[in-house]
Amino acid sequence: MGYFCSFTSGSQGNSGLYVSGDARILVDAGTTAKYISACLACLGLSPVDLTHIAITHCHSDHVSALPVLLKRTGARIVCSSTTYEYLNVNTKDPLLFEEGEELSLGGVTVRTAATPHDCLGSCCYSFGEGEGSLAVCTDIGAVTPEVFRLMSGSRNVIIEANHDLEMLKNGPYPYNLKRRILSPYGHLSNDDCGLVAARLALDGTSNITLAHLSRTNNRPEVAFNTVSAAMARHGAPVGALRGVAEARKMKMILEF
Ligand SMILES: [Zn+2]
Ligand SMILES: [Zn+2]
Repeated sequence: MGYFCSFTSGSQGNSGLYVSGDARILVDAGTTAKYISACLACLGLSPVDLTHIAITHCHSDHVSALPVLLKRTGARIVCSSTTYEYLNVNTKDPLLFEEGEELSLGGVTVRTAATPHDCLGSCCYSFGEGEGSLAVCTDIGAVTPEVFRLMSGSRNVIIEANHDLEMLKNGPYPYNLKRRILSPYGHLSNDDCGLVAARLALDGTSNITLAHLSRTNNRPEVAFNTVSAAMARHGAPVGALRGVAEARKMKMILEF
């Protein structure tokens, strides 16, 4: 028995909880400790119940709650060695790895892959096996073979659909920031996400959720429609696209 619940997702903050057996793994902590505690309370949990906090990379939209949260929990920090160097947190016994290594967290098999993103040590994760397997892949400028392998090995996938290309190009961001987002070390567009989602669904992924939408350069319905149209164009089963994880909305992505 287990689940993954998204607490918040988007360019403003990211956090969710993967539960399987005795493992209660918080995936990123890029919001406030108060909000994470409130989400945990909705699930009948509190920060002391967390066993691990797995961090993808050290951008503030993934780690901002850590300093306060770590005072309220004995959970073990899990992240790449490089990420830990930049985290600047005081924690005993962190579980550090090199991107690409496989781990076991409280009996849950966790796979990792380096992500092409403008942040050293950045990685993505998959958790669990079979029905309960879930890949969480956001903050990826491009989908590398390693990242695709991690996603295609999971029954359930959370994948970034960061921006609509036209909204970004015509939007208010300065030129340099637009270039950064569009680079292979930036964020995945709705169009690029659509191609990957089509391949995943054709390969048998049955539950695809879009995540890490830009508040300025995307809308949930725009992302959903663009990705589902791409899937249809490529003959992929559109029903595999289940929804969008949104900012400051708790959403049960997976129950098993
Ligand atoms: Zn991010
Ligand atoms: Zn980032």
